[in-house]
Amino acid sequence: MRAPRFSRLAFLATLGTFSVFSCSKDQESAAVQPVASHQQDAKVEQAYPGQTGESQAGYLGGQPIEYRSINGELIYEGDIILTADQVAKSTGTARPESAGRTSGRWPSAVVYYTIDAALPNQARVTDAIAHWQANTPIRFVKRTTQANYVTFRVGSGCSSNIGMVGGRQYINLASGCTTGNNIHEIGHALGLFHEQTRNDRDTYVNILTQNIQSGYESNFSKYSALGYGGTDYGMLDFGSIMMYGSFSFSSNGQPTITKKDGSTFNIQRTGLSAGDKTGIDAMY
Ligand SMILES: [Zn+2]
Repeated sequence: MRAPRFSRLAFLATLGTFSVFSCSKDQESAAVQPVASHQQDAKVEQAYPGQTGESQAGYLGGQPIEYRSINGELIYEGDIILTADQVAKSTGTARPESAGRTSGRWPSAVVYYTIDAALPNQARVTDAIAHWQANTPIRFVKRTTQANYVTFRVGSGCSSNIGMVGGRQYINLASGCTTGNNIHEIGHALGLFHEQTRNDRDTYVNILTQNIQSGYESNFSKYSALGYGGTDYGMLDFGSIMMYGSFSFSSNGQPTITKKDGSTFNIQRTGLSAGDKTGIDAMY
């Protein structure tokens, strides 16, 4: 169980990225002010940028969800690719346990992987793997004959399945996907959802639906698999690499997510926060 102070420490660790905002303000206020020039520092991940597809309703782990059908794929929260097995059309056919959080763990915390030879800038993969291995018990091993594994390949955006789905699964990386975005996508492959989808998130944030781009509203829906999923421990972690920023998917330059006091926060795609590490430790 993560003590609340972990979340605070994780947040403080990211202050360096905000420090150019204003030398005259103290760091706390600098960290919570909107900084237009910083909104592009890190981009939120999308499987198919600019495409919203069609809205679909279903159940994931027994919880009602809205997802998008784009190019024949089932896309949840922008960058999570669900399998047909994971999505049920009714509660009656829903799987009895959370896909991606319970049955979707990687046995012995080992992820087998390959890198498609056509993927440019493969340091995005090796650096992201090195970061996960330096900070968590997860180990990544080059696949030989294993049945279940991840292939990193070129994609139209940045996307991943949620958890181990069985057989070959992909992490898709467009040219704009950074090492930080890939650390985030690996988080999905390990079973992490977005931090703002926690069922208790309304305690910590306001969702400003009127500022969300049309067709992306479901990226802000709540989902929690009842007790599993490491990042549901402790407080909502604004410094999580799995957290959206205040301006993610904004239609008008106004925030889509604020803290309860109305202040904004930046997206963090540098590395795992203390809370992310604690969550993964709890899961694996
Ligand atoms: Zn994501």
